[in-house]
Amino acid sequence: MKVGVLGAGQLARMVALAGIPLGLEFIFLDPSKDAGANRLGEALTGDYYDPELLAQLAERADVVTYEFENVPAPVAEFLASHTQVHPAPKALAVAQDRLVEKTFFNDIGIATPQYAAVNSLAELQQVMTTIAYPAILKSRTQGYDGKGQSVLRSADDLSAAWDVLQGVPAIVEVFVPFDREISIVAVRSVSGDIAFYPVAENVHRGGILRVSTALDNDPMQATAENYATRLLEALDYVGVLALELFEVNGTLLVNEFAPRVHNSGHWTIEGAETSQFENHCRAIANLPLGATSLVGYSAMVNFIGGLPDTNALLALPHTHLHLYDKEPRTGRKVAHVTVRADSAAQLAKLLPPIIAMADQVDDS
Ligand code: AMP
Repeated sequence: MKVGVLGAGQLARMVALAGIPLGLEFIFLDPSKDAGANRLGEALTGDYYDPELLAQLAERADVVTYEFENVPAPVAEFLASHTQVHPAPKALAVAQDRLVEKTFFNDIGIATPQYAAVNSLAELQQVMTTIAYPAILKSRTQGYDGKGQSVLRSADDLSAAWDVLQGVPAIVEVFVPFDREISIVAVRSVSGDIAFYPVAENVHRGGILRVSTALDNDPMQATAENYATRLLEALDYVGVLALELFEVNGTLLVNEFAPRVHNSGHWTIEGAETSQFENHCRAIANLPLGATSLVGYSAMVNFIGGLPDTNALLALPHTHLHLYDKEPRTGRKVAHVTVRADSAAQLAKLLPPIIAMADQVDDS
C-alpha cells in the first residue's frame, strides 16, 4: 500500500520510518526538494496548490495523510474526491479555525476557556467589558506555536494588540491560570477502535513546546480520554490526533487539537509499546491498532534554533537522538531527544543536563 503525505518534514519522516517496516511505501509532496522525509520515498516537489502534483499524488497514493493542519480546504477536498484521505477534510476545517474549533468542542460537551469572536477594535473593546483581564487575543486561522497572539492585561493594550492582527478575524480568550499543561494523543481505526496514550505533561516557553514527560496513572487520564473519545467519534476520525489541555483546580479545559501526529507524542517512539507514528500508519492503512502502554519512564526535550554537540548528547545514558535534517534557524525545531529511564527518580536525574544543553543553543 502506498501512503501519500502532504508535507515531508520531521513528522512525515517519523511516520515513514514507522510505516516502512509494516510494508508501506510513501510518496511526499513538499515545496522543498531537501525536505527531510524525501529520501524515504518518492518526492513530488512543488506548491501544495499545484493541480498537476496533486493529481499525481491522488493517482499514486492509496491513502493520503498530512503532517500539518493548515492544508488548504480545496486541496483536501480535491484529494478526498480522488482517493482515501485520513483524517477526513472535516477535521482540518475544524482545527484550522479557532472559533469553529472551540464552538465544536463546546457543542460536544468539551469544556474550553471562555472565548468570544472579534472582528474589529470596537468589538474587542465591547467584548472586553464581559471577559476578565488578563486575556489573549489570537488570530482565528494560521496561528501555531503562539504566533499571531497578544496578551491583554488592561484596556490600554487593546488598540496595539488589534493592530498586530492587521484586521484578520480573531478570538479573545480568558487567560487560564493553569496549574499544568497536559496533552493526550489518541488514535482511532477505520473500524472505530480507539486507543489512548498516557497523558504527557508539557512545558512551553514563548508558545513553543520545550519538554514533554509521559505520566503513569495521571489523575486526569480518564477525563482526557473522555474528551478525546467525544472528538474522535464526532469527527468520525481515522488516525492519530492530539488534544492540548489546561489543568486548573482539578478540572480540564481544552486549548486546541492537532489532527495529526504531535510533538508531545514523540516520546512514544522509545517510551510506548507502539509509537504514535506506527499507530497512525496502522489506522490509515486499516490495520489493527498496536498497544499504547508505557515502556519505562520517558520524557522528550526539543532542540530549537540549534544543536549541541551530538556526541556529548549520545554519550549520556538512556538518550535517544532524532535529528530532523533541518538548517538551524531561530525558533525552528531541529531535533529532539527522548530519555527513557528505568524509574521516575532516574528520569528526574537524567533530564536537567539535557534541558540545559537545549537551553544553551536556543536563541529564541
Ligand atoms: P496555542 O497557539 O493556542 O497552542 O498557544 C500556545 C501556548 O500559549 C499554550 O500552550 C499556552 O502555554 C499558552 N496559552 C494559549 N492560550 C492560553 C490561555 N487561554 N490561557 C493561558 N495560556 C494560554
